[in-house]
Amino acid sequence: MDLAPAATSLARAERVVVLTGAGVSTDSGIPDFRGPNGVWTKNPAAERASNIEHYLADPEVRRAAWQHRRQAPIWRASPNRGHAAIVELERRGALDSVVTQNIDELHQRAGNSPDKVIEVHGTAWWTRCWECSDRRPMQEALDRVGAGEEDPPCLVCGGILKSDTISFGQALDPAVIDRAMRASERCDVMLAVGSTLSVYPAANCVPLAKANGATVIIVNGEPTAMDAVADHLLTGQIAEILPALVEGVSSG
Ligand code: ZN
Repeated sequence: MDLAPAATSLARAERVVVLTGAGVSTDSGIPDFRGPNGVWTKNPAAERASNIEHYLADPEVRRAAWQHRRQAPIWRASPNRGHAAIVELERRGALDSVVTQNIDELHQRAGNSPDKVIEVHGTAWWTRCWECSDRRPMQEALDRVGAGEEDPPCLVCGGILKSDTISFGQALDPAVIDRAMRASERCDVMLAVGSTLSVYPAANCVPLAKANGATVIIVNGEPTAMDAVADHLLTGQIAEILPALVEGVSSG
């Protein structure tokens, strides 16, 4: 695979938007949802808990979800070389934003500025009350579960707590999506990494950027729904390709 043409595009870019999906975090030990080692493949109860209607309606679903959250690999995960390459883009002043479908905050932990990370599906590191929207660190709730509360209610109003992520059946935050779309319109390179680009509206960032003149680079381990839109299509191991692509920026 010849990375040079894509690396040259990246080297000339002044406003890169990086769109990231689960594939960026699998090398950090966070499984995707539907793959052979996926969260839902191994634990169908987790898929049920990921549906907002079931979660709100059934205390048993919530009790199982809290036990599942306590053991999630996300709490022990560290950023990998792919995350580090995106930090390097920011250090060089070429990064407009990271639009991420991931809920693990590994971009921020790797060193990207929090104000550059647009989390379209929210974050698992915080809880939010379904009733009053009170927001607190997830660790507080996990400590309460560890101390014996099976379904810890909101400390402010007694309402149902969930992680501050977008569940299935739950509306996305229009302000967050708007930020992602505006960044996509103004970027000169759209670098989509580790996403199958089949979940909307995040996947819309790619054709939107293309329509506004951006060069589209797709890096993924498997084909994506947007491969036909790509100017540069790089298929393989993300944690290998992404650092090499950014290295090419310095040498090119
Ligand atoms: Zn509340």
